[in-house]
Order: sequence, then C-alpha cells, then structure tokens
Amino acid sequence: MTTTGHRGLDHEEPLIFEQDSPGLSGVDLPLPKGGPDRLGGLGRSRPLGLPGMAEPQVVRHFTRISQRNYAIDAGMYPLGSCTMKHNPRLNEKVVRLPGLGDLHPLQPVRTVQGALRLVDTLAHWLKTLCGMPAVALSPAAGAHGELCGLMTIRAAHEARGDARRKVLVPESAHGTNPATAALCGYDVDPIPANDRGRLDLAAFKAKLDGSVAALMLTNPNTCGLFEDQVIEAADLVHRAGGYFYCDGANFNAIVGRVRPGDLGVDAMHINLHKTFSTPHGGGGPGSGPVVLSAALAPYAPVPYVVHDKGGFRLIESDPKAFGRIRAFHGQMGMFVRALSYMMSHGGDGLRQAAEDAVLNANYVMARLGDLLSPAFLGPCMHECLLDDHALKDTGVTTLDIAKALIDEGFHPMTVYFPLVVHGAMLIEPTETESKASVDQFIAAMRALALRAKSGDAEFFHESPTLAPRRRLDETSAARHPVLRWRPPAPPAAAAE
Ligand SMILES: *Cc1c(COP(=O)(O)O)cnc(C)c1O
Repeated sequence: MTTTGHRGLDHEEPLIFEQDSPGLSGVDLPLPKGGPDRLGGLGRSRPLGLPGMAEPQVVRHFTRISQRNYAIDAGMYPLGSCTMKHNPRLNEKVVRLPGLGDLHPLQPVRTVQGALRLVDTLAHWLKTLCGMPAVALSPAAGAHGELCGLMTIRAAHEARGDARRKVLVPESAHGTNPATAALCGYDVDPIPANDRGRLDLAAFKAKLDGSVAALMLTNPNTCGLFEDQVIEAADLVHRAGGYFYCDGANFNAIVGRVRPGDLGVDAMHINLHKTFSTPHGGGGPGSGPVVLSAALAPYAPVPYVVHDKGGFRLIESDPKAFGRIRAFHGQMGMFVRALSYMMSHGGDGLRQAAEDAVLNANYVMARLGDLLSPAFLGPCMHECLLDDHALKDTGVTTLDIAKALIDEGFHPMTVYFPLVVHGAMLIEPTETESKASVDQFIAAMRALALRAKSGDAEFFHESPTLAPRRRLDETSAARHPVLRWRPPAPPAAAAE
C-alpha cells in the first residue's frame, strides 16, 4: 500500500461528501437579497448539505471516477442477454443537431413536424422489420415495454369481458418477465425447460386453459437458443383464447432474418438500446417500443403519431387505449439514434449484423468447447452458454473464472444466469467485436481453463489481484456495506 492510497497514476478517490470544505465554492455570485424562495417561498430551515468544493476539485473528482468506469468504449463487455455493442458516433452526431437536440416536448405540434415525421419513420422501420401492423413507442426500457404489452393484453381481454388471471412464463425467461406479469396483477405460472434448453411444449399444453391471459416467451431465449417450436406454441395459446407475448430483447440475433409477426407474436418489446445500438447502462435512458398485432393495436397507449392532410399529429386521447404509460411520446434521443443506426445500415446491413453476432458467438463456443462445457448440443444464436461441468473437481468455480477475467482486462460474462444450467457462464460477444478482440478473449478464457485444470485453485481464490478493488466478501458487502472510504493510516513508526 502506498501512503496516498494511489497506485501509479491510478488514483484512490474518496466520496465527494468526504471532500467537503465548508464554505468553498466553484462559483462567485452575489448573495440573493431576501426575496421569495424560487421553490415556493418556504425558506430553508437547514442547509442543503452540498459539499463545499472548488472547481478544479470537482473536475478531478468526476474525471477520476469516470476513469474507473469499465465501458464498451474501453473494452469488450461480453455480458450475455444484454447486447453491449458499439454505439456508432454517427448516431451521436445526428442526435446533437440543434433541430433535434434542442426540441421541447411541449412545443406546438406545427413546429415539430420534422421530429414527428422521424418518429413515424422509426415506427415504419420497426413494423416492417417485425412484420407487425402497429407499435407503441413510448416505453422507456425493455421491462417497461413488457408492462406496456401486458397492459395492452389485459385491456384487450377486458374489452371482451374476459378477465383472465394467469400468465405462463418458461423458466428460461428473463427475470423481468415474471416480475412484469406479477406487477401487472397476474398470477405467474412457470413452465419448465426441456433438456434442449427450450420450452417444454408438453408441459405448456398441460397448463393451458381458459384462465391463461398470455404466454410470455423470450426468443431467442436466455440460453441463447432459438425456440424452434414457437409457431406451435403461438397456435396453442391463440386456440385457448390467450395472447402471445414475446420478449424481443434478443432481437439482435434475428433482425432481418425472421419477422416475429410470422411466428404468431401478438406483442413484443424491442430494446432500442440493445438491437439498435443506442447507449445502454447506468439505468438509462433506454427505449423499449412494443410492436403489436392487429388484435391488440386498438388498445395501445396514447399518445401516438398519426399522419393526415393536416400533417403529423399526436393523438392524446383514445377511448380504447389502456391509458398512458409515461409523459409525452417516448425517448426522442433514442429514437433519433436508433433510426440513424437503421438507415445507415439499411435492411441488408441489419441482417448482416445479426448474422455476424451469431457467427461470433458460435466461434467462441467452438473455440472453448474442448476445455469448457457448452450447456446444450448444437449451434447457438447470439450468445454462448457454458455450464461448470468442465470445472468439476478443480476447486475453481464460475465466480472464480469471472474474477480472474477482470485481471485479464475483460468485464466478466454473465454468471449464474440462466438458472436452468449449473454455474452458467453466458457470453455474448456481439457483431461489433473484431476477430482479433474475440481471439484475445478466447485466449484469456483458454488460459484460465487450463490453469483451473492444472490444479492451481489457489490462484483463482486470490483473483482479482490487479483491479482497484480485491474480491469482496459478497455476503458481508450485501449485509453490512461500508460505503465510506478512509485514507490508510500513515506508516506506524516513521519518525518525522
Ligand atoms: C435486457 C433484457 C430485458 C430488460 O430490458 P431493460 O431495458 O433492461 O428493462 C428483458 N428481457 C431480456 C431477454 C433482456 O435481455
């Protein structure tokens, strides 16, 4: 440990509140003259508690913590089920054009005709790529899109006077699926996966009756596999009077090759921040439009854009709509970026992206398959799922491999998810990683697998050793978090 806590040029950084110098400020303004408080004239009974800091300190603080942030711009981020891919800079350039970047959602509609046309064009692309007649654009993320889709389904059932209680969700579904169904007030009934990592059709049939409002299926699923009995599943749920909700967060694997509408899907959210490359992470802003079948389209939320003789208009109320899921029309900045991505790729380019994403994942699986253990037979889609069979009796776990990967300069893959396999490692390289970078990742993984098999479990239990923080005691960290940084004590007997 150094005296400062810094290591080389990697600075230890206390929390901003620990750097408080009361009275210090980055701005020099005259004191306001006792007028009414802008926040309602209530007056303040105690200080705001903001840390006192000078401008250079503030700049250093945020610059240092930004350098701690591992990001897709810094290296490969092979998180399964997340599609962490490059965000083209062209998108960023377009979204900052003043005519788009400076818009206000409350501007008169006649002053934003171009923006509404852009929204309408994005809707056209999404409907065309999905082979579906309608899309609700306003949801702010994938999970929000699920909620929008299920509320649309509920409104459609209620319009027929058919209040159904149950949503069937396969065990391989993303965790947000059962959570959304429960939040929407449905009883969630799980369906097991079969030994091919897909929906068990017989188990599904056995649970299907007149109480089922919807099937929620992720396709490609969270094992990275295409649900090859999806058409049968859609037919079955339709015959039982239910709707087919598809989680389309993994659309990156099939866009341009498969149209969900052709598979019998009634509602599917698309994560613009995954498939269409808009920035992703840190809690948003995302965008999760939901494409809808003709049966569900009338119940979609307001507002939505229409085009008639008078130009583009926003429909703000509609008696059939289930209501409104958020203020205004959705994430405009994400719409612009996604459309920029679509138009710069073209239909053929989007298809190529999907094919390359699948190729990269299968390449990883083929190159690791002899040392680690693919969870299922056969090729995968956009992500490759390994289980921990190959680590049996080595004393090394999936978590150990993930921690050692940090020392190799990679963000770990998704671990212990999906739950349907033991010690899962779910790897999604995406199409934007070059062969050289995928090869480097493979080399790191192979070296770690060989080391585990050579009996060097000790090495793994120490990992990571090169990261700013060593391995946490995860139980204590969750139960008794210590959120304050304290400078190390000065060396004991150093007489000054
Ligand atoms: C990411 C993801 C979601 C949730 O999307 P958010 O935008 O994070 O809310 C849902 N399902 C699957 C399969 C996903 O990968």
